[in-house]
Amino acid sequence: MGGNQHLRSDLVSAPLQFGRFFLPGPTEVHPDVLAAQTGPMIGHRGAAIHDLMARIDDGLRPLFLTERPVFVSTSSATGLMEASVRNGVVGGRVLSLVNGAFSSRFAEIALTCGFDVDAWEVTWGDVHSPEQVADRLAAGGYDAVTVSHSETSTGALQDLEAIASVVDQSEETLLLVDSVTGVPGLETRTDEWRIDFILTGSQKALALPPGLAFGVASEAMMDRSENAPGRGWYFALDRLMSELVKNQTPATPALSLLYGLDVQLARIAEEGIENRWKRHLAMQERTIEWIEEMKEVGVGIDTFAVEGHRSPTVTCISMPDGDGASATVAEMLDRGWVIGGGYGKLTESTIRIGHMGDHTVDELDPLLAELGDVLG
Ligand SMILES: *Cc1c(COP(=O)(O)O)cnc(C)c1O
Repeated sequence: MGGNQHLRSDLVSAPLQFGRFFLPGPTEVHPDVLAAQTGPMIGHRGAAIHDLMARIDDGLRPLFLTERPVFVSTSSATGLMEASVRNGVVGGRVLSLVNGAFSSRFAEIALTCGFDVDAWEVTWGDVHSPEQVADRLAAGGYDAVTVSHSETSTGALQDLEAIASVVDQSEETLLLVDSVTGVPGLETRTDEWRIDFILTGSQKALALPPGLAFGVASEAMMDRSENAPGRGWYFALDRLMSELVKNQTPATPALSLLYGLDVQLARIAEEGIENRWKRHLAMQERTIEWIEEMKEVGVGIDTFAVEGHRSPTVTCISMPDGDGASATVAEMLDRGWVIGGGYGKLTESTIRIGHMGDHTVDELDPLLAELGDVLG
């Protein structure tokens, strides 16, 4: 009997070779990481989980450049976005910096948690000016600012260091950061930039299967959390922290995903975090260079995000005449390549390439050649 007789053939009917899957999440997962997930179950209160969690914490801290413990949440990244507002907002207002679909979701989460939200939207593809953020905060009354570091729907990269420095000037205001397509694909200095809460997901630049989220909270965030009346149970940071420091979790952890994470953290440590950032920058550079080459030969595409504020992990490309994205994605799939369509209101007018996770320029080049053929 084969070991795979229960695999749904309809779900695996399009086996792609490694290096052809360029969605901006989930991203392609290395076979060693996939295989690690088949390990046997262990009790989640014994010595074995203790060792595993300790090793995972050691591996995660360098990705965030933090000395603080890293929360491992059994949820997708959105779970920790919700956790951040439930723990970080106690009665004041929330200033949500909106420049795309995910930063807009962050505002909506705060709103549906019952908070008073000022959603400050700029043109999609653009970013917020730190000086203007400072002006807004000067009026006072804000418990928190929410921001999406790398806005995956547009490929725009906020100047997180500058925004963090501005928010740090305001005693009462915490900075809550969705870095789901940021960490660990680009330089993010959690402690040095004095970020109050930052989260990422497993299935983007970490190149793991979906289902886990990771976050770091400052001391100010932990203090705030203890007084947050609506923090609930599952996502209460004080409860998570009291178990985390004992290398445990309040509820049953997703053991199989942790096995994969353990292997992936070793792979990332071997590469080195700075090399990982460099590899992502190289892929971004190549993609934007290619867009310029296409423009020179008369293909009417362009980079969607404004120059100087583009994410190293994802490039959003505007389509010729603002149309035809889904047909392009389908044609690429027919040829054995997966790229992302547009997101939200950009569904038909843009396509997206997730050049993140474990990919390299060597795998990106043939993708761009194929895409050039489809568009040209
Ligand atoms: C993917 C993504 C999310 C949502 O993550 P889930 O894991 O699907 O909950 C949030 N923010 C950004 C910027 C993302 O790219």
